[in-house]
Amino acid sequence: MSELHANRLANRIKLKDEHIITRMANIAEGLTDVIKLGRGDPDLDTPAHIVKAGQDALGRGETHYGHPLGLPALRKAIAENIKAHGGADYSPDEIVVTPGGQHAMFVIALSLLNPGDEIIVPCPGYNPYSQAAELSDATVVPVRMSMETNFTLTAEMVAKHITPKSRVLVLINPNNPTGTVTAPDEVEKIAKLAIEHDLIVISDEIYARLTYGNQRIQPVASLPGMRERTITLSGFSKAYAMTGWRVGYFAGPRELIVAMAEVNHAFAISVASVSQHAALAALTGPQECVEEMRKTYDERRKALCAGLDAMGIRYAEPQGAFYVYADVAAATGIPASQFCERLLAEGKVMIYPGTIYGDYVDDYVRMSLTQPVPRIEEAIGRMKAVVDTIRAE
Ligand code: PLP
Repeated sequence: MSELHANRLANRIKLKDEHIITRMANIAEGLTDVIKLGRGDPDLDTPAHIVKAGQDALGRGETHYGHPLGLPALRKAIAENIKAHGGADYSPDEIVVTPGGQHAMFVIALSLLNPGDEIIVPCPGYNPYSQAAELSDATVVPVRMSMETNFTLTAEMVAKHITPKSRVLVLINPNNPTGTVTAPDEVEKIAKLAIEHDLIVISDEIYARLTYGNQRIQPVASLPGMRERTITLSGFSKAYAMTGWRVGYFAGPRELIVAMAEVNHAFAISVASVSQHAALAALTGPQECVEEMRKTYDERRKALCAGLDAMGIRYAEPQGAFYVYADVAAATGIPASQFCERLLAEGKVMIYPGTIYGDYVDDYVRMSLTQPVPRIEEAIGRMKAVVDTIRAE
């Protein structure tokens, strides 16, 4: 970027040149038959009964601004759903529906953080939390995870990063990009730390319905003493394959929610009514679709892991969400970001480097389970050819 335009951008805008995702998307534009395992966007369709509820809402003329906190019936259904899955007891006026969970991150960060406050985030983790904190002039404190704990956050690791300036802790469970789960007993220990040090916890449980084996997600807000210091964030994009509908939400203690709802209103006014009616159908309609999707991801997960095993590429054990976090640098001797660009150009497979998710060691890549098993197997074959070429260089 020229100095002239670099100076025109606000200091808080850190990335001034093209992001690697944009660069890779531009490369992919010029290619045919690219296998896309990059974005966390399910290839699966939104279930038909949910689509129909959206269409019906449109047919009824639900095309206006809605309640600033979100459709009352939807907030009631969200409260019931949270409770049904072992979460805290929320009243509908303690829930704010947002245009996606991602939007909620910025509302929450701007509402909670003062300049100089520290926010502890998992690293690697979902990077918009850091971006939201930076836009709030807060200091991001990354907790570096590693294969030693299967890339999950532990209370011991968090404790080492707490200072008198710590104000907020982000827990993403299951985590993106690692696809790993923090076990319930560890979540309890982290919660105790939060109480001891008077931290507010943002608990991102957007992938909570998507876990594998006997993994279970402990909702943070239902732990003793946590309801009053937890903001639970979730949405419909992942469990119901509804990324394009843009519906998410956050829930928390009423007094905080009243203030945050005001910030949300300033940004969004309200969420598309059609999408909210679709989300209502998602929660109140049959739930088998979630289990079917979960099983589909589980099969894909096994196929991808088998392929990585055959290539001798190690990865964090994927226990939830729909990602596999794999150490390509150890397997090829080149940085992960370089590997991603070569895999795209030479193998026509799109995956993302871990550095996008705040990882400051350029070793790992995130592979999304967003293609059917035969395409994942094809991707593995193409990846093997690229790995073999690099190894032979
Ligand atoms: N939280 C996590 C951990 C995510 O990975 C994502 C999207 O990838 C979101 C929240 C936001 O999802 P949405 O804005 O579609 O609700």
